[in-house]
Amino acid sequence: MTASEDIKQHLHPGKLFIDGRREDAERGGVIDVVNPATGDLLTTVPDGAACDVDRAVAAARASFERKTWRGMDPSRKEKTLWDISEILLKHREELAVLESMENGKTVREAGGADVDPAIDAFRYYAGWVRKIYGETIPVDGPFLNYTLREPVGVVGGIVPWNYPLQIAAWKVAPALACGCSVVLKPSEWTPLTALKLAEYCQEAGLPDGVLNVVTGYGQTAGEALALHMDVDKISFTGSIRTARRLLQASGESNLKRLSLELGGKSPNIIFPDCDIDAALKSAFWGIFANKGEICSAASRLLVHEDIHDRFVGELVARAQKLKVGDPLDKSTQMGSQVSGRQMERILDYIKSGKEEGAKLECGGERDIEGAKAKGFFVKPTIFSEVKPDMKIAQEEIFGPVLCALKFRDAEEAVEIANCTIYGLVSAVWTRDIKLAHRMAADIKAGSVWINTYNGFDTASPFGGYKQSGFGRDLGSYALEQYTNIKSVWVAL
Ligand code: NAD
Repeated sequence: MTASEDIKQHLHPGKLFIDGRREDAERGGVIDVVNPATGDLLTTVPDGAACDVDRAVAAARASFERKTWRGMDPSRKEKTLWDISEILLKHREELAVLESMENGKTVREAGGADVDPAIDAFRYYAGWVRKIYGETIPVDGPFLNYTLREPVGVVGGIVPWNYPLQIAAWKVAPALACGCSVVLKPSEWTPLTALKLAEYCQEAGLPDGVLNVVTGYGQTAGEALALHMDVDKISFTGSIRTARRLLQASGESNLKRLSLELGGKSPNIIFPDCDIDAALKSAFWGIFANKGEICSAASRLLVHEDIHDRFVGELVARAQKLKVGDPLDKSTQMGSQVSGRQMERILDYIKSGKEEGAKLECGGERDIEGAKAKGFFVKPTIFSEVKPDMKIAQEEIFGPVLCALKFRDAEEAVEIANCTIYGLVSAVWTRDIKLAHRMAADIKAGSVWINTYNGFDTASPFGGYKQSGFGRDLGSYALEQYTNIKSVWVAL
């Protein structure tokens, strides 16, 4: 029996995880969890509603007020977070297979780009637990003034389907390091690894009620969390459309604070003097890794006119050889899109690109050869002759679709790079160090990669400019999202 068959056989229907207990939704409904690569039903999870969110928030609030976690000795908290990372590591293979089966990404990507960063997030924030403290501030008059950095309270984590475990860990690990209690709402398409995470946190000794998971739809469970009067903060990754709703919900409820990571339309800028081989590799995997369902995808390729045709030609040749297929086969290079709905969305964008006059160089359709017939596979797609104002150059496609644009000089490259509503990440390829730094200063984005792409480290902040959102995940900057500053004055 293969690892995936074994895991599938042992998949029980998921349960909500509230106050350390596995529970059904109060109203009894369930959501099907489907393998997008095969169309098979994997299992079901509860269709959590507002009443379930109420129970989860009450459990989180009670644990917070009882100080079962935040009042624990810091060294014990540190050890608990470290132990979570160790348990995740022990279950790395199982989690990678599960992530691959619910999301359609290759098992190799699920292990290296989803589970491993999640493990590292718990290790990294374990190290922060004993280093989060305030200051003593010299003030006028006979006073002692100091600050306390206190946990913000009950945190709602609303996370997407593209890196389900990694992004959950990006929210949960720093929130726990700061002493918060959490209610996590995974995507309705990929809820299984979040439920596993809750189990493993319990196994590591996290007290009941500190991490709760409510599965359910965005419009019901997500909305209830966003509108809840007893949730102090929402940490969100997903679409701009949902972010607007979260901002409204905060205004309509208790002005809970928000951090928002909302994707991008990121420029990867190639100058003729760069290391072309390295740039080609980065341009290729920048768009086709995780079948293009990455907020930091290198979806706009800006190539200098002198090398444009050669560069794009080479990418097309490579795309035609990309091995698309069974995500659980370790030799597969690109898996299935997450759902039929996402695949249709991508195909609609491809249609729009053709209608607006971009030149389709390769791909451009669903891949239905052989065993792929039942899955939601899209052929790796490259458009050239894309103009900056075309819909495919402005909107986030979230699929394996690369848009190549030509530029004359650095000034024009910056203008094109900055001409979308997004500003998440960007990259510049050149050996000219002055040019590279000028570009880094002029591009409006939360990350600029010079002669590299998708540089990530748990220690380095990640987040957007403009409508790519605000607030930062990762690094010490994430701690600001989960703490309040209290100023204490003592008359001497
Ligand atoms: P989404 O924003 O709808 O979903 C993200 C999360 O928000 C899910 O858990 C969802 O259940 C929840 N949600 C949805 N509506 C909600 C509401 N009204 N209140 C509270 N929570 C709600 O994103 P999606 O539908 O999964 O994807 C749509 C598009 O969003 C993608 O094609 C892509 O462009 C973008 N996206 C971006 C990222 C990213 O990493 N930045 C991730 C996923 C999707």
